[in-house]
Amino acid sequence: MGMKVKVAINGYGTIGKRVADAIGMQPDMEVVGVTKTKPDFDAKMAVKKGYKLYAAIPDRVKVFEDAGIEIQGAVDDLLKDVDIVIDCSPNKVGAQNKPLYEKLGIKAIFQGGEKKDVAEVSFNAIANFDEAVGKQFVRVVSCNTTGLTRLIYTIKKNFPIKKVRATMIRRVVDPKEDKKGLVNGIEPNPIKLPSHHGPDVQSVLPDVNIVTTAFKVPTTLMHVHSVSMELQDSVSEDAIRDALAAEPRIMLINSSDGFTSTTKIIEFARELRMRYDLYENAVWADSIGIVDGEVYITQAINQESIVIPENIDAIRAMLELMDKEESIKETNKNLKIGV
Ligand code: NAD
Repeated sequence: MGMKVKVAINGYGTIGKRVADAIGMQPDMEVVGVTKTKPDFDAKMAVKKGYKLYAAIPDRVKVFEDAGIEIQGAVDDLLKDVDIVIDCSPNKVGAQNKPLYEKLGIKAIFQGGEKKDVAEVSFNAIANFDEAVGKQFVRVVSCNTTGLTRLIYTIKKNFPIKKVRATMIRRVVDPKEDKKGLVNGIEPNPIKLPSHHGPDVQSVLPDVNIVTTAFKVPTTLMHVHSVSMELQDSVSEDAIRDALAAEPRIMLINSSDGFTSTTKIIEFARELRMRYDLYENAVWADSIGIVDGEVYITQAINQESIVIPENIDAIRAMLELMDKEESIKETNKNLKIGV
């Protein structure tokens, strides 16, 4: 492999730290620096892990210095010499950072908390890799949308779909959040039809007829999706299972193996990977059923890690490092997806 592509991470939080570590596992790219807004334990750990740390907000360099944390400068210094920046800042902050990337003329990947118009393309590796090839701005869609899009695309590739109806049972917050939550309730979110997930899937797969509803529940581990799809032609449950089994980014699990709830999936992932990151959709094979020509599927999505492989593939598409098949294979191999 020749020169490594230089990547900056703007916003070293839940998604940023995972993207950074995943980049470190690829032979064709490297993290040249990460940014933080506060000199907290995450900032200290970033330095300990060997990342060069920069202040996400320029006038905060001194705050890091005063806290005794090794800091290289501000975000502008970091972005001077990079091939691409992965913006992993909080919801809607990416759009505020965009003018800086435009000014510097660098490529940027935004995350799912941004509106779709922040980028030229809303991205999912298996569904529309080619649309991101050579682009300057790409948005990797959110955790729920990534999970839905992978599932729908994999079915659609094999069997034409008439319509999709899905309900998202959403983890209320990520495990680290202590400022907000939902202790004892089920919150329809939103209460009005439709939830934003359907239109968000259409930002990647525009010709899918989909309506979604969503509910927040007091758990932090994973989302669960109950999906039903009306197909053009009649198919067997086995054919659906085989189509899903052939996609490495989908992991088929069985309740008979003890996968009785998201807690068991996470317990399994704790053995499998660092920080129980589960990059694959966990689809219950024994949930697949066909009633009156409609296919029913239940899947679980680890919100913190599902979009990580997509960010890696988006880098390769935008910088034209590899084609779709090659990139996905390389990412899967390096992140041990489907092995
Ligand atoms: P987070 O709060 O864990 O991390 C955000 C980081 O950005 C923090 O480290 C913060 O210090 C930093 N930051 C704050 N202001 C900044 C600025 N102006 N410039 C640069 N960095 C700044 O958030 P997260 O959960 O990692 O979410 C990041 C993005 O990823 C959001 O768009 C979110 O919607 C999306 N996303 C999150 C999840 C998830 O479940 N956590 C899943 C998929 C997509």
